[in-house]
Amino acid sequence: QAKVAGKNCYRFYSRAMDQAVERRVQLEQELRGAWERGELTVLYQPIFHLTDGRITGAEALLRWQHPRLGMVPPSVFIEVAEQSGLIEVLGRHVLETACHDAAQWSQAAGAKPFVSVNISPRQLRSGELPDVVGHSLKTSGLLPQQLHLELTETAVLSDEAQASALLSRVRATGVKVWLDDFGTGFSGLSHLRRVPVDGVKIDRSFVADVLRDPDDLALTTAIIAMAHSLGITVVAEGIETEGQYAILRERGCDQGQGFWLGRPMSADDLARKFQDAPIS
Ligand code: C2E
Ligand code: MG
Ligand code: MG
Ligand code: MG
Repeated sequence: QAKVAGKNCYRFYSRAMDQAVERRVQLEQELRGAWERGELTVLYQPIFHLTDGRITGAEALLRWQHPRLGMVPPSVFIEVAEQSGLIEVLGRHVLETACHDAAQWSQAAGAKPFVSVNISPRQLRSGELPDVVGHSLKTSGLLPQQLHLELTETAVLSDEAQASALLSRVRATGVKVWLDDFGTGFSGLSHLRRVPVDGVKIDRSFVADVLRDPDDLALTTAIIAMAHSLGITVVAEGIETEGQYAILRERGCDQGQGFWLGRPMSADDLARKFQDAPIS
C-alpha cells in the first residue's frame, strides 16, 4: 500500500497537489452520483439567422442541477468527466436527449430546425460516435441534416487523420459538423482545407470586442470571408448586445447565438420560442 511502501515517495508530493487530486476524485464521485440520480439536464440556447431574424436551431448545453450548490456549469465538470471517461456515457445521453427533443420542436416549429451537440475529444477518439449518432437518429426520428456536431479545433487537430476519417463517415449520412470556438487555435485556417466541416463558430472572445477592438473586427471579417470562399457557414457565439448583432450581420455572418438573442432554456421553453416574431 502506498502509505507503507511510499514513506520516502510521499515526501515528493506537495500537499497542494494531494488536495487537488482529492478534490477531483471527490468531484468525479459526486458526478457519478448526479448521473445516477438524474441531476443532469440538457438546456437549449437558440441560434438565429442574422438576416431574417428567425431561429434556425439550438445548441444543447449540459447542466448539473446540484441539490446544494445549485446549477453547476460545465466548466466545472466537463473536464472531470472527460478525464474519468464518464463523458462517454454523458455524451451519449446528451445526443439521445437532444435528438429526441429536437424531433418534438420540429413538430411545433413546422420547419426543420437543427440541434447542435458538443462532442468532446474523448468521444471523438473512441470511434463509437457514428454508431451513437445513428442510434440517436433512428430512435428519435430526427433527420440527419437536423443534427449538427460541434467539435473544438484542438479535438480535431490532436489526431487529424482519424478525425477526418470519422467526420467524413458521419457527414456522409447527412449530419453536419461545426468547428467550435473557432479562431482560438492558430492553425485554424490551413486545417480547414483538410478537415471536412460545414460550419465554424467564431469564438465569443472575438465577438466580445468586435466593436471596441479593430483587430478583432478585422479577424472576424476575415474569418467570414475565408469561410464563405470555402462554402462554409459562419456562426457567431456570445452576442451580448444589439451593436454586436448589427455589425456581425453587416459583415455577412450567417447565424448567431448569445445572451442578447436568447439564454439557454428548457426544451419546452424553446419549443414556444419558435412562435415568437423574428428579431428585426
Ligand atoms: P460552448 O460549446 O462554446 O458553448 C457556448 C457557451 O457560451 C455556453 O456555456 C453558453 O451558455 C455560453 N454563452 C452563450 N451565449 C453567451 C453570451 O452571450 N455571453 C457569454 N458570456 N456566454 C454565452 P456553458 O453552457 O457554460 O458551456 C460551456 C462549455 O462546456 C461549452 O462551450 C462546451 O464546450 C462545454 N459543454 C457544454 N455542454 C456540453 C456537452 O453536452 N458535452 C460536451 N462535451 N461539452 C459540453
Ligand atoms: Mg459549442
Ligand atoms: Mg463555443
Ligand atoms: Mg481583443
